[in-house]
Amino acid sequence: MYRNLTQLVDVRGQVKRNGSFASRSWTQITGIARHHSATTSGDAFSFANYHVNTLGWPGIGYHFVITKDGTIQWANSIDRVSYHVGNNNTPLIGICLVGNGSFTAAQEQSYFDLVTALRSTSGINVAVSNLRGHNEYPGHASNVCPGINMDVVRTAIVKGHPVGNHGHPVLRRGDSGPDVLVLQNDLLAAGESLPQFGADGGFGAETEEAVRSFQRRMDLTVDGVAGSQTWEALDRAKVEGRLVVVTAASVNVRSRPSFAADAVAGQVVQGEAFTVVEIVSVSGSSSALYRLVSGLYITTNENYVTLR
Ligand SMILES: [Zn+2]
Repeated sequence: MYRNLTQLVDVRGQVKRNGSFASRSWTQITGIARHHSATTSGDAFSFANYHVNTLGWPGIGYHFVITKDGTIQWANSIDRVSYHVGNNNTPLIGICLVGNGSFTAAQEQSYFDLVTALRSTSGINVAVSNLRGHNEYPGHASNVCPGINMDVVRTAIVKGHPVGNHGHPVLRRGDSGPDVLVLQNDLLAAGESLPQFGADGGFGAETEEAVRSFQRRMDLTVDGVAGSQTWEALDRAKVEGRLVVVTAASVNVRSRPSFAADAVAGQVVQGEAFTVVEIVSVSGSSSALYRLVSGLYITTNENYVTLR
């Protein structure tokens, strides 16, 4: 039940209002729309002020706002038809993540937890295919909101984990077990140190400091918590400077991170090797490419290439 989520704060009685939205029954709810705020800061209170004072709405447009630290602000009862996807609002719950196309691990965890809880709430039926981004609704294609590839979001939901953490749980001080061991080995491989305890499977102060050090070095949010952005950055760090060797007869190289035909810049053949700079994601695809020192891109698919 979404009301029981530990990150949830009920602000329905505190946010600015001027009137009320129409109501609906829960059985009318068939979809959950994801939004970003297109701002780097803000919360349900500031968005409510804008929606009421400037836009003249009865209240804040979203049902939930997820702030940078992962707090879920519950701003409208879900039986309210609030305003967040024009002409599509009646069946939709609106969730806004504060950010402008970039979200914290804590936010992705909270989005995952909230969507999972809403979908398992008795009386609400939302298929994974109806978890959509603002710009996936009719008439909204030109909107940049929600600032994330929703195929990635839906795939993560199906796989049962938050966006971007590759199936690793979000880990923090006090956790222990095999996932922590993977994290510690990845940190060591990325050049961080665990001088006293090494990779021991326990997430204590030393591991937290190594995570913070890595996050600082990678220009990530420095919170000492290994979430989606940290896991992704660890994946990238593990490949930098390594050689990718072509194992198939021939493989395309690409001029930009795209699988489009006009991005093919040429072909390389079996046995050729290239130095990797990083792994990059490809818009509209769950596959990734290696960026090479030459500036070209090559597949990461292990059926065609291998890392040395
Ligand atoms: Zn939106």
